[in-house]
This record gives sequence, C-alpha cells and structure tokens, in this order.
Amino acid sequence: MIDFKKDNHIHTHFSPDADPAATFEGYIVEAQKKGLDEITFTDHVDFDAKHPLFHEMIDYDAYVIAFEKVKKASPIPIRLGVEIGYQAHMKNEINQFIEQYPFDFVILSIHYLEEKDLYTQEYFLNKTKQEAYNIYFDTVLDAIKNISQFDVFGHLDYITRYSPFGDYNYNDYKAKIDLILKTLIKRNKGIEINTSGYQKEKRPYPKEVIIKRYLELGGNHVTLGSDSHNMGKLGCCFDKIKPLFKF
Ligand SMILES: [Zn+2]
Ligand SMILES: [Zn+2]
Repeated sequence: MIDFKKDNHIHTHFSPDADPAATFEGYIVEAQKKGLDEITFTDHVDFDAKHPLFHEMIDYDAYVIAFEKVKKASPIPIRLGVEIGYQAHMKNEINQFIEQYPFDFVILSIHYLEEKDLYTQEYFLNKTKQEAYNIYFDTVLDAIKNISQFDVFGHLDYITRYSPFGDYNYNDYKAKIDLILKTLIKRNKGIEINTSGYQKEKRPYPKEVIIKRYLELGGNHVTLGSDSHNMGKLGCCFDKIKPLFKF
C-alpha cells in the first residue's frame, strides 16, 4: 500500500525555487546511492502565480523531450510527473494542461489562497485562525472536485507551514477534513505523505492523525514524497513514516 523505495515528489532546476544544480541525472545517481528503485519528477506548474519567481512557466514541450531522453538512458525507472497548483479561477487551464501532456503522476497542491502566496503570510492578515484554516480546507475540497485528472492531493494541511497560527486540532475541523478524505476516496484519489514537513515542523504533511483517518475511512492510495528542491534531500525522512504503518 505504501512503497518506501519510491520518491514521488521531486523538483529539478526546472522549478524556479529549486537548486540550479538539481538535474534529472543527478537525482538518478542519488536515488541509486540511497537504494530507491523509482523516482518521479514533479516540477512546479502554477497558473497565475503571484510569486515573481514563478511568472515564467516551464516550457513543457521542451521538458518532456528532455525527460524522455534521460529516461531512455536511466538505469532505474523514472516517471514524468507534475505538481500543479490549484487556484479556482484557473481550473479550466489546469484541466487542459493535465490533459495535454503524458504525465504518469499528477500531484494537485494549493500554494495560493485568495490569490495570495501563503509563503508571504499576507493571506493571514485580518483573519482569525478559524477563518484562515476553514477557507483553506474549503479550497482543498473545491480543488479535488474541480480538477478531474490527478493522482494525489499534495501536502494536505500545508497551511500550517507559513501560518502565524501554527498547528491545529483535527477535531476543530473534523467535518471539513473528513469530507475531503471521503471525497478523495470516492473519486479513487490518494494523498501523499510529504516528508518536507520534518525540516520545519517535525511532522509530515498531512499530520499523522489525518493519515490514520484516511486509512480508517477506507483510503488505500498513499504515496511518499520528499518534496526535494535539491538532490541531498531525496528520500529524506522516509524512515520516520514507517512506524505509522505498523498499527
Ligand atoms: Zn507544493
Ligand atoms: Zn513540491
């Protein structure tokens, strides 16, 4: 049900916020060193990105050609993925984009709310914690209903990463979170366990209680992703997840 030898969330130098030295080939060498048997490249696509770094989008025609060339020579299987950022007003562009390219794996993520980059914290101004987090979970539900072709929802509960309000209690948002998980299950979609959370908040995204709830509700599609933006982070912290799957 979960494969600890596959990293399904990786950014190369094509993502503007990643290490310029992070190449397809470099990650493949790193994967072999770390005993991973497959990796999936998931560079960023955020339509109408507010962050200036992301204004210029990756040329995917060129990207796919470069990927296919590397794939032919790769000693381990590699997959063509993408991490696509959801914003409601861009839903048609997102659906069209996913259909246009032969992706093996699509992560649907939220990096922006109310057209504001969560990273800047501007979104949280003049909001209570309840308001800020409720809008986030409502938008997640909106995203998974409006986007037809994706495999997993990315870093669910990532709202806490840049939030001045910090962690949350599952019980305070139980109805919304359960509805998200049930909708994913009904649509045969999964969640990823994003281990980049260990670098800042000492936990994965989503946090344990949500992962357990997804499984308890009958979900069975869980992927692991380091969300590496440099090669050193590939496969990072996967060991910390193992105890979660021994209950
Ligand atoms: Zn992301
Ligand atoms: Zn990512």
